[in-house]
Amino acid sequence: MKIKDILENNRVTVSFEVFPPKEWAKIADTKKVIDEMVKYNPAFMSVTYGASGTASGYTTEIANAISKGGITPLSHLTCISSGREKISSVLDELEENGVENVLALRGDIPADYDISAQHSFHHACELVDVIRERGGFCIGGACYPETHPESTNRVDDIEKLKYKVDCGLDFLTSQMFFDNEKFYDFREMCEIKGINVPIIAGIMPITNAKQIKRSVELSNCSLPKKFEKIMERFGEKPEVMKQAGIIYATEQIIDLMANGVNNIHIYTMNKPDVAEQIMKGLSVIINE
Ligand code: FAD
Repeated sequence: MKIKDILENNRVTVSFEVFPPKEWAKIADTKKVIDEMVKYNPAFMSVTYGASGTASGYTTEIANAISKGGITPLSHLTCISSGREKISSVLDELEENGVENVLALRGDIPADYDISAQHSFHHACELVDVIRERGGFCIGGACYPETHPESTNRVDDIEKLKYKVDCGLDFLTSQMFFDNEKFYDFREMCEIKGINVPIIAGIMPITNAKQIKRSVELSNCSLPKKFEKIMERFGEKPEVMKQAGIIYATEQIIDLMANGVNNIHIYTMNKPDVAEQIMKGLSVIINE
């Protein structure tokens, strides 16, 4: 099923992100994680691509496991380190496996990237062009409520986003954020700019102190005072921090829903118990 059709009916959707293993030997373990997660009936499940050097085939393999569990997969695809032939062969592979949804991403610029060399892709919008011209896929893209880390200018970042959407995106998924007000401001700026595709809010449940440090470094997102206080008090106690992080994420989702945000994507970090507890916390609310 195409994700744009899942998002169309105005109902609340909660979807999950998972990542493939770094080595083939661990694929069975990741499939077990998927088997657990599909039980909570997410609207769809996305699987990341290429981060930490994982091969594209692992992404497709995990997308297949998601399909077998009866859930619609969304396959991420990055282009900065790939030529057009490689992208074309990954799209062939997805098509052959019946994967209809792609999150079109640039990817982070590798440390050894040679700016003077001729590259096939510079920005995600070029990948969107390729996928749209090929046809048959529902295409999503990334967006950044607190601006992309490389961008120094918020207005320019939204203008580039508008251009990317107009290249043929069907929906956007946001970077994680911990302060819902940042998301509401961003949503308003998108509306003003005429970005009209659904924007799925990305929520990262923080379950340990190390994770928050890494997440903030990678994503450029700010921490509200309320969250800092939770970290100060519970950060050194793993079980307590886990429960507090799950409750914080659940409260964030409830506030988003109360403010008319119907589509939520949970960065599960491959932890079925975290996904389970959030879904249990929302069990009645989700169907209101
Ligand atoms: P772009 O949309 O190309 O934007 C990158 C920067 O370039 C921005 O500053 C933007 O303002 C600017 N820009 C955009 N278009 C233009 C243009 N035409 N001209 C000039 N400047 C422009 N990474 C992975 O490796 N694997 C994953 O699976 C993955 N999944 C992700 C999922 C989500 C929901 C998110 C939010 C991020 C994900 N990432 C993933 C990280 C992502 O690859 C990085 O954030 C990357 O640095 C930017 O990718 P992008 O697609 O947003 O790039």
